Amino acid sequence: MILRGDSGAIRLNVELWQSFRTLAKFENFAKVGKQSCSSKFDVPDSAPPMKKSLKISLLVLLSLVVLIALTVVAFVNLAPQIGSAATGPRLKRMQASPNYKEGKFQNLVETSIAMSFGKTVNVSWEMLSKGAINEPKDTIQTAPFDAKRFEGTGQPDEVAVSWFGHSSVLIRIQGKTLLTDPVFGERPSMVSFFGPKRFPFDHHIRLEDLPKLDAVILSHDHYDHLDYETFLQLKGKVSRFFVPLGVGVHLEKWGISPEHITELDWWETARLDDLKLVCTPARHFSGRGLTNRNTTLWSSWVLQGTQRRVYYGGDSGYYSGFKTIGDKYGPFDIALLECGAYNQDWISIHMMPEQTAQAQLDVKGKLLIPIHWGKFNLALHTWTDPIERLTRKAAQLGTAVATPRIGELTVLGGPVPATRWWEAYR
Ligand SMILES: [Zn+2]
Repeated sequence: MILRGDSGAIRLNVELWQSFRTLAKFENFAKVGKQSCSSKFDVPDSAPPMKKSLKISLLVLLSLVVLIALTVVAFVNLAPQIGSAATGPRLKRMQASPNYKEGKFQNLVETSIAMSFGKTVNVSWEMLSKGAINEPKDTIQTAPFDAKRFEGTGQPDEVAVSWFGHSSVLIRIQGKTLLTDPVFGERPSMVSFFGPKRFPFDHHIRLEDLPKLDAVILSHDHYDHLDYETFLQLKGKVSRFFVPLGVGVHLEKWGISPEHITELDWWETARLDDLKLVCTPARHFSGRGLTNRNTTLWSSWVLQGTQRRVYYGGDSGYYSGFKTIGDKYGPFDIALLECGAYNQDWISIHMMPEQTAQAQLDVKGKLLIPIHWGKFNLALHTWTDPIERLTRKAAQLGTAVATPRIGELTVLGGPVPATRWWEAYR
């Protein structure tokens, strides 16, 4: 979950919860105090100095708590990176979706994302105290992006993929260049100064390093998939954005013109010349603020060329939908599936690596490129646990997995990147 990237909301919820607890404690204290005083704040002249100073301290504390609460509320309402809320025709279209019930989008199967308050505190503490030991021990050497070779793959039978860590992937299919979930900022977080910092790379790819983009594809609006800073740079440079229902509201708030945004519900399709794009389901959730959970849709994507097919899985827990998508649109020449940021406590919205291996079989992916790892520490496992467990399971199942370095090209039909490069940084 998201305990960092997806879960700025959880952190802020914790802060608010603590504020409310403090307030509640003060209220209880004040009630007790009322039995001996004429009013809560009316301190009698005869009150002992200790009691008087305690009341003043409590008043100061209460004022501080109220100030902090107001600041949080103002921040969440005013900070542009939080995005916006759908209204008017967009909201009407969302409300008409079969996946929208009682003001929120729903998963196709029962999906719980609730953690108890105690568990949230425990997990947050574990991440803060032990997070660093799970991260790379050295600067990761990336592969220089080979733009010439990438752009040379324009034929209908050619596909090229370059992965930049986490879920940012550049895909060339049917002569089109598409970028998924671009996050090139330092932290996938609600605020720029707090949250998980990206792992040290010798070179962090920048948008200006990339070839001209025909389109950007988004899977959902969590911070580790939809980055405000990156979108400010994309504005005016890309003319097509394919997003799940509702997500366009954030993009419009950030200045992207509505005619450049194509919003789709699950199973709806769009075209980019000869390339067909299908917005397909995923088992996950959404939200960027404190109160907007599941108010925009999450999805995976099928990219269907005239000869080749790619599946981009977005974020998803394991479920029967992979098989449905495989039956309907498979086989896929390349499947990009999430493998990272998992935990038994939120297994319904992120897969274990062994489930990722099974999902490749379900969607009929001929070659798997695991994503959602290698850049941000968003859970409690070590940073190499996803790829080690996945490659072990894939070997048992006999499935094909590519393990490109950050930035390295995987060209369909060419040699499959298979080095265990991460072992140098454990
Ligand atoms: Zn997510």
